[in-house]
Amino acid sequence: MITIGSFDIIGIKTGTFRLDGGAMFGVVPKVIWGGHEDVDGQNRMLLATRTLAAVSRDRKAVILVDTGNGPKWPADEAARFAIEPDGSAIENGLRRAFDIGESDVTDVIVTHLHFDHNGGLTEWAGEPGGPTRLRFPKARHWIHREHWDYRERPNEKDRASFLKRDYEVLAGSEALRLVDGDEPAAPWDGVQFMVCHGHSPYQLLPVFHGGGRELIFTGDVIPTSSHLRVPWVMAYDLHPLTTMEEKKRMYARCRENGAVLAFPHDHRIAGARVDFAGDKPFVAEAIDLGAG
Ligand SMILES: [Zn+2]
Repeated sequence: MITIGSFDIIGIKTGTFRLDGGAMFGVVPKVIWGGHEDVDGQNRMLLATRTLAAVSRDRKAVILVDTGNGPKWPADEAARFAIEPDGSAIENGLRRAFDIGESDVTDVIVTHLHFDHNGGLTEWAGEPGGPTRLRFPKARHWIHREHWDYRERPNEKDRASFLKRDYEVLAGSEALRLVDGDEPAAPWDGVQFMVCHGHSPYQLLPVFHGGGRELIFTGDVIPTSSHLRVPWVMAYDLHPLTTMEEKKRMYARCRENGAVLAFPHDHRIAGARVDFAGDKPFVAEAIDLGAG
């Protein structure tokens, strides 16, 4: 656990999955990235899905950031990505760290609508393959309006990552909260939103700050600690040069504000304090975001 301002923050590992190692590192050749990540017989590297849970000291705000792949996977699709969700991880994590449960969640920040970040937003209402319902029906679900609109017209490069079963039930729901602009205000003291476009349009990433400390949820700008180097960007990104600039924006906060990073997909560490050798960032210290 880490305390930033009025929030106690933990990372909850909601499962693991595997994606093609080459796709994860773009133009970086395997002879180089292979020194950082192992792959299975199908060249797939192991990834975690990590939910950030930020709970205010007075327990009035219980914020989740992303919800992982979730449990709604047909066996053949789950096998393709080696998806292994832990459906009780969020309940267990909240219980262990804060003695609260899923029904106490007040807010969910939806960074972007790719399936590996939102499968846990919904569950089958009845039979698998039928209608879905919200997993956190009392919570406000925050997403950037432009990204929400983008789901209706994703381009051919990333449209396979959008699964309506994960989020479409939010359409017309009172639970949906849309934010606007390049610097949208967050509804909690001690939280800013950073808007990023390189990976997918209008990715919404929270920055927690206070008491001289800062934590950035890096989203798919820096999915794992193996992606710290600026040019090590994913082939999935729509605009890799933009991702590189967004990494530098985050590193400026690391240098100037002492920000620490929380990664959504690193299977080894939840977060890190980074330092720089020249302009090359590296993990100076792993940050334990366990339930304590
Ligand atoms: Zn993504």
